[in-house]
Amino acid sequence: LHVETQLGEGVAVPVDGNPAHYLISVMRMKPDDIVLLFDGRSGEWAARVRDMRKRDLVLECVQQTRPLDDVPDFWLCCAPIKKGRIDLIAEKACELGVARLQPVLTRRAVVDKLNLDRLHAHLVEAAEQCGRTALPELSALIKLDALLRDWPQERWLFFADESGGQPLATSLAAHPGPAAFLIGPEGGFDPAERDAIRALPKAVPVSLGPRILRAETAAIAATSAWMTINGD
Ligand code: SAM
Repeated sequence: LHVETQLGEGVAVPVDGNPAHYLISVMRMKPDDIVLLFDGRSGEWAARVRDMRKRDLVLECVQQTRPLDDVPDFWLCCAPIKKGRIDLIAEKACELGVARLQPVLTRRAVVDKLNLDRLHAHLVEAAEQCGRTALPELSALIKLDALLRDWPQERWLFFADESGGQPLATSLAAHPGPAAFLIGPEGGFDPAERDAIRALPKAVPVSLGPRILRAETAAIAATSAWMTINGD
């Protein structure tokens, strides 16, 4: 179960709302029962049920059961796309082990706002489901030119270019180390954006194959390819 309270030995963790309903009415927890908690920063902790009322309870951290995950140094940079589809990207990025999700605004994006709270909730739910103890960092939406201007020197930027690029598997293998993938919106990148991305010294334009993939398919396929080749 994910909680906002910073976990540590002896820390009391108040739980209310839906999580409390789940523990009290669905799981039928009793005093001294053990619940596994994570806060996204302190690993996983076993906590005992200390006080219980009708609609809320207090847990107490007893001991750490797993350390914080050591996820590969991989970011997914993607243009915001329609609601259910960006939610899918967040969920799958978390499951696949992405360290950071960076939304990037491009000229042809049909969506120019993002509900970060909703995306955070999807990341939390996916982390609970897949057993991740470190949540992916979720960054605020930034414009493509700002992303390129401040791009870190040591990080490869694999650019998923639907108009063509180097073959995926060999490019990924030839550029190990900290990396990110950049995926465009439903309408793709415009020619000026494509030129600007390609001008970045760390950019590696890659093709995801001969067919045009939907943005969410491209994001999931690209992440899973990078994780397979460079992710351990
Ligand atoms: N409207 C664009 C077009 O018809 O060319 C397609 C954009 S595609 C739906 C969304 C994004 O997914 C692209 O900007 C690109 O980053 C990525 N993408 C999709 N198919 C790809 C491919 N075969 N190779 C590389 N990137 C791809």
